[in-house]
Amino acid sequence: MSDKKTLTTTAGAPVPDNQNSLTAGARGPVLLQDYQLLEKLAHQNRERIPERVVHAKGWGAYGVLKITADISKYTKAKVLQLGAETPMLARFSTVAGELGAADAERDVRGFALKFYTEEGNWDLVGNNTPVFFVRDPMKFPDFIHTQKRHPKTNMRSATAAWDFWSLSPESLHQVTILMSDRGLPVSPMNMNGYGSHTYSLWNEKGERYWVKFHFKTAQGHKHYTNAQAEIIVGQNRETYQEALFGGIDAGEFPRWNVQIQVMSEAEAECAPFNPFDLTKVWPHADYPVIDIGVMELNRNAENYFAEIEQAAFSPSNIVPGISFSPDKMLQARIFSYADAHRYRLGTHYEALPVNAPKCPVHHYHKDGSMNFMGQQSGNVDAYYEPNSVNGPVEDKSAMEPPLKIDGNADRYNHRDGNDDFSQPRALFELFDDKQRERLFSNIADAMNGIPKEIAERQCKLFDQIHKNYGEGVRAKLK
Ligand code: NDP
Repeated sequence: MSDKKTLTTTAGAPVPDNQNSLTAGARGPVLLQDYQLLEKLAHQNRERIPERVVHAKGWGAYGVLKITADISKYTKAKVLQLGAETPMLARFSTVAGELGAADAERDVRGFALKFYTEEGNWDLVGNNTPVFFVRDPMKFPDFIHTQKRHPKTNMRSATAAWDFWSLSPESLHQVTILMSDRGLPVSPMNMNGYGSHTYSLWNEKGERYWVKFHFKTAQGHKHYTNAQAEIIVGQNRETYQEALFGGIDAGEFPRWNVQIQVMSEAEAECAPFNPFDLTKVWPHADYPVIDIGVMELNRNAENYFAEIEQAAFSPSNIVPGISFSPDKMLQARIFSYADAHRYRLGTHYEALPVNAPKCPVHHYHKDGSMNFMGQQSGNVDAYYEPNSVNGPVEDKSAMEPPLKIDGNADRYNHRDGNDDFSQPRALFELFDDKQRERLFSNIADAMNGIPKEIAERQCKLFDQIHKNYGEGVRAKLK
């Protein structure tokens, strides 16, 4: 007797032959009733789901977040209390490349985290940069179009990218980071992560604080130059997967030191810059970082597709004690991320094992494709609310403090009164001469072949950051 399990159809019936199709004789055609053959071909046709429009190429692993500081004066969130250890999932990614893109490409990296807290899932869907290219979500789809393929040539277009950037000075900060050394990390372990948006924390007393989250690599920053990356990509397109998966498999568990910056509501009102503007950082000197814990990755997924490709992160996932801010980009992402998952994975994407909370889930959403979990109210008669059959009810203790909003409802002119130059200047002034040279070269490389007037329009913006910046790029363009 063999101890091997019996191969079955998806309906559980034993498969008599998985090597030979059912045919009308050795030289005859295949019979339509060979259901095992039909099922194999049909499943193969359905093995791909739509890839993410952005952040398609990714690498992920499980781990734990340990909190080592008492920040209860800022937040009541259980996940952020001293001593809390929360299981989590991280997915890193590039933004523009498709699912088969090479890993070592110059691009912003996604840094998406899902914390399976006892109060529900908290997702922090950030990047390896503290800022972004645009501050108004109205511009986001256009920006992404410039990073993707031209509709006719089906090629990536440097002209489109620089045309958009040179007409959008708010992008200067992020463009400078992207073209600096940090724009091409050696691996996910060798980069920082940032929550990027301003979020809020609120405590037991109902007091709100604005917060920025930072994850500082404990492995140290390591970067490729463009020339090094060309060689690496020529040899191996999967260097991030190899390094992250292989490292964890070998027992090397990467860590990030977790920090926050905090701003009171009163401080926010008189801050010299808009603290909810995604193109700005909060200067450390004014808003010092507070060490709050450590994040470690220590377990690989068993099935890449089920657990990493189907992982669905959304900034809409918050827990009591953590909330949103008036950041306009964050507000748009609260809608668009969950919406992307409903389209890509299906209505009940949060019931998939990798996305499912580890705490009890009770809701009245019903039916829809792939409802494999039944009615989640915990009571078959409770399929509406309010009801008198003891169905789940709201919990007022989860109510965040009211958010004061003033101003007239109007089209927000995101250019007016915004200084797009001082913070990139502060960054440029951090770079030594060699870093500046590489910055200029990386920009000149990326501008290869674009019309001269677009390059010059962009250099005029660099001039406004620092006269050496524009001049440096022009010199490399010659
Ligand atoms: P600080 O000198 O206090 O902070 C500098 C920050 O810049 C550090 O967090 C450091 O990261 C980071 N940094 C250092 N070298 C580079 C580089 N080559 N590319 C990107 N980031 C780098 O100054 P400020 O807080 O006043 O910020 C000055 C500028 O630094 C900002 O305008 C912004 O461009 C950049 N920055 C600021 C951050 C912030 O939250 N304040 C976060 C990241 C960048 P690390 O600690 O890992 O060395």
